[in-house]
Amino acid sequence: MANSQLAIGVDVGGTKVLGGVVDSSGNILRTFREETPITGGSALNETIASVITELQKTHDASAVGISAAGLVSADRATMLGAPNIKDWDGVNISSALYEICQVSAIVENDANSAAWAERVYGAGKGAENVIMVTVGTGIGGAAIVDGRLLRGANGTGAEFGHMRVVPNGELCGCGIRGCFERYASGTALVSRTRDAVAKNPEEGSALLALGNGLIEGLIGNHITQAAQNGDSMAIEALETAGDWLGAGIATLSMLFDPAIVVIGGGVADAGELLLSPARRAMEREMPFSGKHPVPEIVLAKLGNDAGLVGVADLARI
Ligand SMILES: [Zn+2]
Repeated sequence: MANSQLAIGVDVGGTKVLGGVVDSSGNILRTFREETPITGGSALNETIASVITELQKTHDASAVGISAAGLVSADRATMLGAPNIKDWDGVNISSALYEICQVSAIVENDANSAAWAERVYGAGKGAENVIMVTVGTGIGGAAIVDGRLLRGANGTGAEFGHMRVVPNGELCGCGIRGCFERYASGTALVSRTRDAVAKNPEEGSALLALGNGLIEGLIGNHITQAAQNGDSMAIEALETAGDWLGAGIATLSMLFDPAIVVIGGGVADAGELLLSPARRAMEREMPFSGKHPVPEIVLAKLGNDAGLVGVADLARI
């Protein structure tokens, strides 16, 4: 009989397929990785199956979950649209894996998987109502409402990045103007900071030096690094990013009424330099000021393993 305490989570990224055996306390007992085949599609399904089979050689784990970026259908089996992987759109991944290695696997969106891990083992531990906002190249989101992961009618709920925050604002990759991620993402942070440095190279000299003297050399990590060293332009750039983030969270709080808002993604490495202004903006922008309880805004705890751990736990349920 399978050991119900153990589950396998597989995080499928653009460059690697990382699988892990996870126990019921969220500990990763073993990992195994292979490169993501650039052809995607059936070659990728074969790779995922081989990662699962390898992990099952040493651990008795029958519950298997696959976490991947993209729109996953509500049946937790079919990839409706995978932006970073070739020939995966419309593929029933669960059926494909069952055919290859006779494993019954569930499929979940990566942001949902990470949020679930944070809620069960990490920064949102024990809370029944948690939202997660992942601030990276874009903005990812997930919501746990009354203890359950929100999937929506089509499995694509909680795409916070495409909530409109500025009517007729900047054009987003999704085709709509004024989306949250055009203002509060890492991409927006970098672009605003590059503009500020271009306008005032003297004040931006520390940032410019980190980018090897080139404005285009300036990346998100440099802004965090400069701000941690006390650079005023970098601190201000993160304050502006936190301001947009907090204002968005005020709106999300009216929709989801979370107890905890977990912030993940690369920009979260800035820690309090981002979170303090975000908290101030959230309180300032919260409707029914003083009457509506504000959620806690905290940093994600589980880092890059969150997707793998979360989807393993979801597979057990
Ligand atoms: Zn958008």
